[in-house]
Amino acid sequence: MRIALMVGLMVSGVAVAEPGAWRIGVFDTREAGGEGVGPRFAVEALTKAGYQVGTFADFSPLTLAQFDILWLADMHSAGPQPGDWRQHLTTFVQAGGGVLQSWHHHILGEVGMGIRRVFGSRQMSIASDQPVLAGMADFAASYGDHIVEQVGPQGTVLVKNEFGDPVVVAGSIGKGRVVSTGLALAIAPKRPRDAELDLVQRLLAWVAPTVPLADRLAGLGDQPQLAVRPATRFVAAGFPAKFTATLAVLGDAVPQLLLDGTKVEAVPERQARGAGVAFATYAVAVPTAPGQNGETTHQLRVQVGEKVYEQTVTVKALYVPPVPNERRAVWLHVGNDRAPAVVMPELKSLGLNMAVLRIAGGTAAFYASKVQPDVQDPLAATGGDWLAEAVRCAHANGIEIHPYVNNCVVEGRTSPASLQKLRDEHRLQQTAEGHEIAWFCPSSEENVAAIERPMVEIATNYAVDGIQYDFIRYPSAQGCFCPRCRALFEQETGTVVKDWPKDVQKGGERYDAWVEFRCRRISAIVQRVSTAVRKANPKIKISAAVFRDWPTCRENNGQDWARWCREGWLDFVCPMNYTNSDELFQSNCADHRAALPEGFPVAQGIGINSGNSRMADPGQVLLQIMLARQQGAIGFVGFCYTPEHTAQLFRPLEHLLAE
Ligand SMILES: [Zn+2]
Repeated sequence: MRIALMVGLMVSGVAVAEPGAWRIGVFDTREAGGEGVGPRFAVEALTKAGYQVGTFADFSPLTLAQFDILWLADMHSAGPQPGDWRQHLTTFVQAGGGVLQSWHHHILGEVGMGIRRVFGSRQMSIASDQPVLAGMADFAASYGDHIVEQVGPQGTVLVKNEFGDPVVVAGSIGKGRVVSTGLALAIAPKRPRDAELDLVQRLLAWVAPTVPLADRLAGLGDQPQLAVRPATRFVAAGFPAKFTATLAVLGDAVPQLLLDGTKVEAVPERQARGAGVAFATYAVAVPTAPGQNGETTHQLRVQVGEKVYEQTVTVKALYVPPVPNERRAVWLHVGNDRAPAVVMPELKSLGLNMAVLRIAGGTAAFYASKVQPDVQDPLAATGGDWLAEAVRCAHANGIEIHPYVNNCVVEGRTSPASLQKLRDEHRLQQTAEGHEIAWFCPSSEENVAAIERPMVEIATNYAVDGIQYDFIRYPSAQGCFCPRCRALFEQETGTVVKDWPKDVQKGGERYDAWVEFRCRRISAIVQRVSTAVRKANPKIKISAAVFRDWPTCRENNGQDWARWCREGWLDFVCPMNYTNSDELFQSNCADHRAALPEGFPVAQGIGINSGNSRMADPGQVLLQIMLARQQGAIGFVGFCYTPEHTAQLFRPLEHLLAE
């Protein structure tokens, strides 16, 4: 294997100079309904370097076949994919395609698979005997962390970290090639440059196909030649249901596609031709009638020579009327480009009636707080108070205002002096290895009091309609392993931990009790703060922004939010259901409903511009609102307000929301 690989490396290691010859597809995790940074940084870097670049969001054979090389830039959450997607990827490579997988990657393990993250180590050493790396010097990775590879039977190590662990591995599968690397080559806010860009270009040149396109296509086997995605589309009634049809044919002519007998134009920029193969992509839009539920089927038909290909698609148009007094909200941040005097009238004009405003977090406050050490109110210089101004402008426009506080995380805006004080007082969380995490340890009485103070101050001193918890959880499985938490765990469970921290970590004999202990810590904060807030202001509505993955968030983050609802510590709950996948959004809504007491009020969080999703289509926003209504939601909260973008999404919905 090693000999074969060496030959391969020498043959194509000289092709670096022709980036434009290859069409590269970067996987778009967000479009696919997954999580992660998305394709932006990879696309920017490749475009700048002169490559032809596109993105893709599914692994159907015809989608993959439109590209010579695929870059899977971060696959820690690839979204809901059909069960056979890994096989499609393997078949693509076997037929002669190339794959570069970077950062999180758990597939194509014949070559290499990411297994372990290394924190805070950048130095990389290259295997200088590999021709593909000839002339390259050792380098420092631009991102502080990387992931170590498990080298598969077809893998050869090209780059190692400072500890000698493999970080870049290359190898062949069938007629194609794969490079697996745990380098974070396209993670925000970094795009590959300098030595890393040089490395990317060499790796892309090496994985570039040596098999002609027509042969690669034949190698995909007896797949259908007309592919339509999805087979069934949900759509908000009144908006068109969109489908993508892809066709691959020999020759140069792009055939005519008919939708229920009517011509559909091909999308010109998606017609990748070469080596006697034409790919045509058609954007199919089926109109639907407003205000009506309905399911219809439609026929797509194309004739190529004597052969006719047909596919049927289903459109499910959804219309659900709103509950009375539906909450129509956005999450909002403090900033000079979103002054309350401008934003509140804008929200009103868009048909929205509620603002959930981030007003404090950790030790910081963005209002005239008397209890937070780090006041960073943009109006402070002129003697103003952002929260007082926001309340005034909201109510003047008929908008309910619910400030929210990032409770457990110690904000990035914490002053160095505050951070040092927390450190000196041993109030920060610790990892199992004893490293500091900049989150409040929930076993510290000082911390619980510090979380309580701004919540009570806001509820007491301002005429707000509600108050919301956010970051009311642990960061991950990592916290908190400080001596105080250990002592409290042993006290509450009445048993000393024999092997600390192993016994309480996943797989350990005390793990289940540890999960419950963590849930109790966070729940105790909610119980105490909600009780104090209600005493201060009995009329206020208390809510929480919570993880959408119930009940996984109990285990991963100690966030037992269904309990908070059952106990009456919350008046309503806002699951952060941010995804571009409408199917995932819908199934999450159903899971939330099932987790809660019957009729408990839910306002679904919609990711209009979030880390997981950015919406451009008002129809998609309306569809997710309809799906939330279908599961009995009292409303929705879009995350998050952005000047111009929010108006672009909601302006076309203004009259539809209220109907
Ligand atoms: Zn602790």
